[in-house]
Amino acid sequence: MAKRLAGKPVVEKIAEEIGGRVASLADKGIVCGLSLLRVGERPDDLSYERTAEKRAESLGIEVRKTVLDEGVSQAGIEAAIDEVNGDESIHGCLMFRPLPSDINEQAVCDALATEKDIDGISSAALAAVFMDRDFGFAPCTAAACMRVLDCYDVPLEGAHVVVVGRSLVIGKPIAMMLLRRNATATLCHSRTKDLAAVMRAADIVVCATGRARMFKAECFSPDQVVLDVGINFDEAGKLCGDVDFDEVEPIVGAITPVPGGIGSVTTSVLMAHVVEAAERTTSA
Ligand code: NDP
Repeated sequence: MAKRLAGKPVVEKIAEEIGGRVASLADKGIVCGLSLLRVGERPDDLSYERTAEKRAESLGIEVRKTVLDEGVSQAGIEAAIDEVNGDESIHGCLMFRPLPSDINEQAVCDALATEKDIDGISSAALAAVFMDRDFGFAPCTAAACMRVLDCYDVPLEGAHVVVVGRSLVIGKPIAMMLLRRNATATLCHSRTKDLAAVMRAADIVVCATGRARMFKAECFSPDQVVLDVGINFDEAGKLCGDVDFDEVEPIVGAITPVPGGIGSVTTSVLMAHVVEAAERTTSA
């Protein structure tokens, strides 16, 4: 039976780290401020928003919500971003995506000040991740994967990591972050030949495809560490990952569950980034 890499101990560790830092900032008269920017009323966004609000509140981070109408124009969203950029009490902004299809999303992302882009959505923040530079912030989910690996002391140097999924939110940045830590990263996608064999050869597998329980026993081998980033719903409406947990858990060395794995850590990483953004304003 594999070791379960649960998110809870990681969440607790981050909360412990953040607690003292929020208090030190408060001593300097700084209250960490998080902006949540939402367009419309998508249930996924509302659910993430509630989780973020609760987590922020428990950590002493102040939340400012901006809700724009579904029919908002490009100029309207960019004006809201400008307001966030100009508001000194806001240290970081989470904008829920995707934006409506008639909006140029990348232009909106790029309008956000790099120092407030705590979810790595701007080209500048992503460039930093790809260039091993330390300005800006990495996308929270990719950073959450790194936190989980570190919290459970998974050795990265020289490890062969296979990442399945090549989005800019998860797959590509996590591959770059692993490379920086001297892992050997292989990035796979929907056209990868003989994917199961590629996956079986890895020491660590990161699944980020959004395909419910797609990865079965034949994709894994003993002693592997498996991070399941997927947040999907099966035919019965049950929350599940990309990995068929019941089939795979008996084979591998360690695996993150869904729910209670990477997803639960992502919100904590977002909070850690807000605190870091606030700290950077004091050292600027
Ligand atoms: P995208 O749809 O942007 O990317 C999916 C990637 O998976 C693509 O690169 C695609 O390949 C690849 N893919 C799809 N099908 C297959 C297949 N059959 N074999 C191999 N590769 C495949 O998704 P995201 O990166 O945004 O999200 C991925 C998952 O992570 C989703 O389940 C999402 O809900 C979840 N997620 C979880 C978060 C968390 O906090 N845990 C946060 C954000 C997302 P190609 O490029 O060739 O099309």
